[in-house]
Amino acid sequence: MNTQIQFDIVIVGGGLAGGLAALALAKNGFECAVVDAQDPQTMRGAAFDGRTTALAYAAGRLFKRLGLWDAIEPKAEPIRDILVTDGQARDRFRGGAVSPFHLHFDSRELGPDTPLGWIIENLTLREAIFEAIDNNANVSLFAPARRSGARFGAGFAEVDLEGGETLSAPLIIAADGRFSALRAEVGIKVNKWTYPQTGIVVTVAHEKPHHGVAQEFFLPPGPFAILPLTDNRSSLVWSENKTAAPAFLALEDEAFIHQIEARFGPYLGKISLASPRWSYPLAFHLAQSYIAPRMALIGDAAHAVHPIAGQGFNLGVKDIAALADVLTEARGLGLDIGHMSVLENYQRWRRFDSTSLALGMDLLNRLFSNDITPLRIARDAGMSVVGKIPPLRRMFMRQAGADFGKLPSLMQAEA
Ligand SMILES: Cc1cc2nc3c(=O)[nH]c(=O)nc-3n(C[C@H](O)[C@H](O)[C@H](O)COP(=O)(O)OP(=O)(O)OC[C@H]3O[C@@H](n4cnc5c(N)ncnc54)[C@H](O)[C@@H]3O)c2cc1C
Repeated sequence: MNTQIQFDIVIVGGGLAGGLAALALAKNGFECAVVDAQDPQTMRGAAFDGRTTALAYAAGRLFKRLGLWDAIEPKAEPIRDILVTDGQARDRFRGGAVSPFHLHFDSRELGPDTPLGWIIENLTLREAIFEAIDNNANVSLFAPARRSGARFGAGFAEVDLEGGETLSAPLIIAADGRFSALRAEVGIKVNKWTYPQTGIVVTVAHEKPHHGVAQEFFLPPGPFAILPLTDNRSSLVWSENKTAAPAFLALEDEAFIHQIEARFGPYLGKISLASPRWSYPLAFHLAQSYIAPRMALIGDAAHAVHPIAGQGFNLGVKDIAALADVLTEARGLGLDIGHMSVLENYQRWRRFDSTSLALGMDLLNRLFSNDITPLRIARDAGMSVVGKIPPLRRMFMRQAGADFGKLPSLMQAEA
C-alpha cells in the first residue's frame, strides 16, 4: 500500500551535506525528511569512509550553533599553521636546508584563539550528525530507502521511495552527491572532467608531535597533504598519478611507509600505519544551475572539487547556511519556499562563489601538479609575493577559513 507523508522539505541524500542541512533547517522550524539509500549503521561504521575533513573555522561556527560541537571537539585537531612547499619534502629536511619556495600561514595572525580550522575524521562528523538527527523531533530519517521517482507540479513536489512511501513537500533538496540522479532527472547539465590523479588517503601514527601544523607539498603527480589529527596521528591525502596509484596501494606496509617517508621526510619521526589505505578517483563536477522548480542542489550534487585545499564540504556547509537564511526569510514573508523567485535568491548567493572557488582549485592543481620550468618559476614567484605581503596572506587565510564574502547567519562570528 502506498503511504503519503507530508513535510516542509524533503532532502534526498543523507551524506554529510544532506544530514547537516536537515539539522540546520530543523533548527529554523522546518519539518524535514532525509532519505538515504544506505543503511545508517553502515554509514556510521569505521569501514565506510576513511577520509578526514579540514573544516574551515567559519564552517565550524555552524556546527557550534547547531549544538554538534560538544560531540566533535574532543576529536577535532585545531590547525595552527599551514606550510605549503613547492617540491619534494626532502628538499626542506635533508641537511636542514629550507626551500625558499614555501608559504607559511600562521593562525595567530588572525587572532590569538582562532585556529584556521580543524582536521576531523569524517566518521566523527557523520556520527555527530546522525546522533543529532535521531534526537531531533523535526527530522525524520528514511534509511535505508532508495528514492526511485520524483514529480514536480504547481505547488507540490513528491519523491517515491522503493519501499512504497511517497514523501511530499513544497521543496526537495538534492543532496545525492556528485552523480546526483535527481539533478539529471530535472535536466540540469553538469560541467565535468576527471583528473589523471587518484587520491590515496591513509592515517599514520608518528613519534614526534605535529604541533597542529598542516603541510602540503606540491609534487609533480599532485599535492601531498599531511593533516594533523588528535593523538599524535596525521591523515595523508596523497594525489598520485592514477596509473601509478594501484602499485602504491598494493605495496607491503613497510614499502608503503618508505614511499611516504620519501615524500615528507623525517620530521615526524618514526611513522606507522593507523588505518587501512583508501583511494578516491578525483574529478570536477559543477552543476550549470543550482535550482529547478521546487528543487535546490547542495553539496557535491551542486559542485565536487579537487581536494587540493580541502574546500569541498566547506562549500556545502555554506550552501546549507545560505539556504537556511533564504528559506527562513521567505517563510517569514509568507512566500512559497519552493517558488523559483525564492530559490533564485539562493542561487545568486551561492553559484558565483562556489564556481570561482571550484575553478580556483582546478587552476591550482594544474599549475602545481607538474615539473615544467616556466610554470615552476611563475608559481614560486607567486608564493614569494603572497608570503611577503601580510594583508594578502591574511586574505588567503580567510579564504581557507571560509570567512569571506556575504556570510550566512549560521556562519557569522559572534557579535
Ligand atoms: C580525498 C578527498 C578528500 C577530501 N577532503 C576534504 C576536506 O578536507 N575538506 C572538505 O571540505 N572537503 C573535502 N572533501 C570533499 C568532501 O568529502 C565532500 O564534498 C563531501 O563528502 C560530500 O558530501 P555530500 O553529502 O554532498 O555527498 P555524498 O557524501 O556523496 O552523499 C550523497 C548521499 O546521497 C545518497 N544517495 C544517492 N542517490 C540516492 C538515491 N537515489 N536515494 C537515496 N539516497 C541516495 C548516497 O547514499 C549518499 O549517502 C574531500 C574529498 C575527497 C575525495
